[in-house]
Amino acid sequence: MIPAGSLLVAEDLRKTYGQTSALDGASFSIHPGEVVAVLGPSGSGKSTLLHCLAGIIRPDTGRIRYGGRELTTLSDAGRSALRRTDFGFVFQFGQLVPELSCTENVALPLRLAGARRKAAEQSAREWLERLEVDDIGGQRPGEVSGGQAQRVAVARALVTSPRVVFADEPTGALDSYSGERVMQLLTDAARLTQAAVVLVTHEARVAAYSDREIVVRDGRTRDPDHAV
Ligand code: ADP
Ligand code: MG
Repeated sequence: MIPAGSLLVAEDLRKTYGQTSALDGASFSIHPGEVVAVLGPSGSGKSTLLHCLAGIIRPDTGRIRYGGRELTTLSDAGRSALRRTDFGFVFQFGQLVPELSCTENVALPLRLAGARRKAAEQSAREWLERLEVDDIGGQRPGEVSGGQAQRVAVARALVTSPRVVFADEPTGALDSYSGERVMQLLTDAARLTQAAVVLVTHEARVAAYSDREIVVRDGRTRDPDHAV
């Protein structure tokens, strides 16, 4: 059964790598604008679940529906187009382009979508300001702190106004003070733009920023609030 009003729903996902079962019956659903934390120990299948939900990898079996479309039957090109237009990503290590300035990094997704340089960089600067790092726009990622780089990565994820932001251990490489700040800014920005957030983490304090939590263990999901 698909919960009413869901934006992204996955049912009974299974995925194996050789002998290793990464997902063994994982289900998930998220509403527009909702922040859902995916918790679980290292190796439990959280990143594999996120990669399936985001259309980066295909599960072996199971269904994933996004806004009325079945992701698992879309072509690779179809899924990659969807990732560009509808999804934003924040990973543990910002994965910014080292040769570009922070402003250019944030402007890049808009440039790839066809925006002119001036307009893209204007939006990028506004996003850097929202993330309180407008002072480092001209610097390269290698010249700023880990916390600053991660705020730039959050700005880059949100600049295209995605419907869903996928964040995989976004504070995993930060000290707790910078981590808390990044989480606060990420969830504030997502609420502002009404983006849903799939927040993968093994840190309970990070999950405190979510509306709802689900737990992954041995590739299976458990939702303490809803049975999905
Ligand atoms: P988590 O993000 O919770 O740490 P993962 O989803 O990364 O867990 O991994 C779940 C299981 O699948 C682990 O046993 C991991 O070693 C295995 N796994 C994940 N990705 C791959 C891969 N590309 N190749 C082989 N094994 C993988
Ligand atoms: Mg992981």
